[in-house]
Amino acid sequence: MNEIILIGGSTSKKDRIQQRERYKMPPIGLLALSSLLKMHGYKVNICDLYLEDFSRKEFVEYLQSLSKSPLMIGVSVYTESEQECLEICSIVKKAFNKTKVVMGGPQATFAYNKLMDNEYVDFIIRGEGESKIIPLLEHIKNPNSFPVQNVPGIAWKKEENGHRIINLTENAPMITNLDVLPFPDYEEWKLSMKNCSHILTMVTSRGCPSSCIFCSSKSLSGSKYRFNSSEWVFSMIIHFYKIYKFDSIAFFDDTLLANKLRAKRICKYLISYADKKSFNWVCKSRVDMIDEEIISIMKNSGCGSIHFGIESISQKILDRMGKRVKIETIFKALRLTKKYEIRPDCSFIIGLPDENLETIEDTLLFADVIEKEGFGASVVGITTPFPGTEICENPEKFGLNIKVKDISKYNLNTPICELEDVTLNDLRKAYFFFTHQRHETNNPNLAGRTSEEIKKIRQDFTNRLKGEVSIGV
Ligand code: SF4
Repeated sequence: MNEIILIGGSTSKKDRIQQRERYKMPPIGLLALSSLLKMHGYKVNICDLYLEDFSRKEFVEYLQSLSKSPLMIGVSVYTESEQECLEICSIVKKAFNKTKVVMGGPQATFAYNKLMDNEYVDFIIRGEGESKIIPLLEHIKNPNSFPVQNVPGIAWKKEENGHRIINLTENAPMITNLDVLPFPDYEEWKLSMKNCSHILTMVTSRGCPSSCIFCSSKSLSGSKYRFNSSEWVFSMIIHFYKIYKFDSIAFFDDTLLANKLRAKRICKYLISYADKKSFNWVCKSRVDMIDEEIISIMKNSGCGSIHFGIESISQKILDRMGKRVKIETIFKALRLTKKYEIRPDCSFIIGLPDENLETIEDTLLFADVIEKEGFGASVVGITTPFPGTEICENPEKFGLNIKVKDISKYNLNTPICELEDVTLNDLRKAYFFFTHQRHETNNPNLAGRTSEEIKKIRQDFTNRLKGEVSIGV
């Protein structure tokens, strides 16, 4: 039997516990691969380490209970879990010395050279896994009749004169018709379904037409927005509802509304099903994709919350980061969500290129006003040069001085880059104000403004949120 184990890597125990307490995102990429592999006759087991607390010995025993000699073990790796995932590769290679160890996921895609240099990693899948994994397994089973060069989009290595040489095969084209892929294999993720059985998590599109300099969406999934049809999305919802009887749906697409016609059709399907079952659902969107027509149909179909990546309240900073959004569009989107009683979950980033203490302070105040005036919820993160982003490729161009090289600290909570006018300590202080102090004091005390000035800025944001006359910021 051709047995495969797919492992979702995790980070620290503290991180795992926090993940379990909050909503837990299923390893959608692994679940998608699992379905595809099963279609091709492989036996698949998924081990999601965000949900487990194994000692090293227990981990090996658990894997051995799944398979005595798997053909392949795949490990999915993110930037912050790189160290842990390399440790996993070392453990599994020692426990199963004939098994091929394959890494995939965002960090594997962007840092394949570094990861392939590790003695325990045999192959790396770059980018989307679905178009590469079946040919790769064919090569693993029949290396002579199906040479590695026939497998698209992977990294592999050979030893020559005592040197390790890392090779890439030709890039694979992106999958254009996502409807040809099977539904993700939630069945294989039973334990987690038990943990969050009331939510179905879906990713129904890939790629983003925008190119924000801090985001890796474009380099990971391309600039063309590709999506499942509304019919495919609705069929998946009904299929899993019949099995799991969930109440809510979380669309984890980067931008669910990028194709409005499709989004409206999904909403219409949900409305048509409401006499049997109505779902609460949440999604992510850009603010400029919201208008009265779409928001009204979203509300009628059960949408309770939209995540907006607002990032900054400075037009100059928005332009510099390639967001292509006008400040007034942000206010308009927030007014519309308020009108239709949909809660916006707004995220902001501080320490972006060209920031100074005033722009950071304005963003913190705006994020706070959104919450205090009852317009939605806000979270603030710190600029992090994740691999695959423009700010990672070319930090000097954006005036970023990367002070922290240890990527296990790349987590949006830790200051990593300094700017000409902003130190790591300024970012630490700003982040601390937002996460710990803002309920006791109104003034972040970053830019030397008086309480009167802070009050005026807050009032201006409040007026603009309510659509009243404003002095402008
Ligand atoms: S931040 Fe959002 S809008 Fe910008 S590139 Fe990433 S996914 Fe697209």
